[in-house]
Amino acid sequence: MTQNPSGSLRAVVLGGGLAGTLAAAALAPYVADVLVVERDTVLPETAAPRPRLPQAAHAHMLWSGGADAIEELLPGTTATWLEAGAHRIPIPNGMVSYSPAGWFRRWTETHYLIGASRDLVDWGVRTALRAAHPNVRTRTGVRITGLAGDGSRVTGVRILDGDRREDVLDADLVVDATGRDSKAPEWLAAIGGPAVEETVVDAGVRYASRRYRAPEGTASDWPVVNIQADPRLGTPGQVVSVIPIEDGQWHVSLSGTRGGEPSGDEQLFEEFARGVRHPLAADFLARAEPIGEVAVYGRTANRQRRYEKAAMPTGFVVLGDAATSLNPVYGHGMSAAALGALALRDTAAKTPVGAPKFARQAQKAIAGPASAAWLLAVGQDRFYPDAVGEAPSLGDRLAARYVQRLNRTAIGNFLVVRALTEVMAMKKPATVLGSPDVLFAAARGLRRPLLDGPQLTEREQSVLNREPLRAAADEPA
Ligand SMILES: Cc1cc2nc3c(=O)[nH]c(=O)nc-3n(C[C@H](O)[C@H](O)[C@H](O)COP(=O)(O)OP(=O)(O)OC[C@H]3O[C@@H](n4cnc5c(N)ncnc54)[C@H](O)[C@@H]3O)c2cc1C
Repeated sequence: MTQNPSGSLRAVVLGGGLAGTLAAAALAPYVADVLVVERDTVLPETAAPRPRLPQAAHAHMLWSGGADAIEELLPGTTATWLEAGAHRIPIPNGMVSYSPAGWFRRWTETHYLIGASRDLVDWGVRTALRAAHPNVRTRTGVRITGLAGDGSRVTGVRILDGDRREDVLDADLVVDATGRDSKAPEWLAAIGGPAVEETVVDAGVRYASRRYRAPEGTASDWPVVNIQADPRLGTPGQVVSVIPIEDGQWHVSLSGTRGGEPSGDEQLFEEFARGVRHPLAADFLARAEPIGEVAVYGRTANRQRRYEKAAMPTGFVVLGDAATSLNPVYGHGMSAAALGALALRDTAAKTPVGAPKFARQAQKAIAGPASAAWLLAVGQDRFYPDAVGEAPSLGDRLAARYVQRLNRTAIGNFLVVRALTEVMAMKKPATVLGSPDVLFAAARGLRRPLLDGPQLTEREQSVLNREPLRAAADEPA
């Protein structure tokens, strides 16, 4: 059995993904020793892919709420990302977005997002952690198989190391950040812990993604292009997102809910993009060169495990996708994990990590941002045809109608745009949408007319004026 060498507090973090790395950053100032245990054999020294992060093949938007939380936990990370080629994209002016209500105006910046590959985001965070916290160690090639302790207290974790030897790592605090595949409910049951309430809402979303070389003159300072789905149509929701990332590339993700999923066929990729509510993204793609293969991914259900409501043993906390995994279309998973890690740190600043009440307090604090993102996702996903999970309630329907009205009002009202982007970027809770000035604006409705097409700059339009490199499927070659 591995002993805590210093005799002082030790935290073991399960999973070396984004949530695990940020949990280590959150706890490092408050314990003597943090050990991150990861199943992948290598956490790359560069922004390279790794086998157990398959979602990195798909476009990831990191909203400012998440990016700011990461910066607060690990100062300097943003500069590391930007130096490595990531883009800081102002929102809403850096976004050409077709919402269910129409084209968004490109108002002055209220927020931003980081445009980078997921591998670059994680590498930047790992690099910053290593520089800031020498008391954090990482063991790779180790599989967690269970918890040690009993229903009242977790005292460590059971592992299978690279040589398939069983061992137990003692810990004063265990943080599960093993992502969507977390086995925490089974692990808890095995030590006599509580059952955990779980809700699933699954719109059956499947992703297909590919990278493109950005056309000449567009490698820097280029907007996100986002054609959203409209849940009111009663047809499967299909989305295209084009996100500028490092190395002069665009990361393009297609997604479709049950019955409208994209395929992995390269020949059909741009055809799908052309078939969504507007062909703008397809028009840009026709003028760019695809690089690499199409990757597909289908494990996208919203799943919420309410650890904060269960009579949890002390010494155990669950963070990130392990607690709440979200339909990625709304781009909130990383931000919810980052804000959860910040909540973990803030709890540690107030309550000693070794105190019996620490884990419960931390779990409640983590649940705040995760629940906010959950409501945004299921508030739409429940409306798609054949969505699995509870049907929308009257409250859901009223809330959805109000959000539709806000989306429409936002097209002509900066105050509402600011409120909506604050929520979308996870800088403020959804309650700001119920503030008196926003309610008043919604009641007054549109102050400027709807746009009859996307607001493009001359440079953006000039790309569309170029000859396409490939003809659309329904056009003669
Ligand atoms: C297609 C797709 C697109 C997405 N797009 C966005 C986006 O645009 N914006 C956004 O914010 N979010 C997005 N997300 C969500 C985002 O990827 C997740 O929210 C984020 O990865 C959660 O991080 P995590 O650390 O909790 O889990 P993960 O990143 O999955 O990390 C979990 C880690 O735990 C390790 N692990 C698992 N089991 C064990 C075990 N038994 N023993 C040891 N180690 C283990 C794994 O190897 C892995 O390294 C997307 C997700 C998908 C699927």
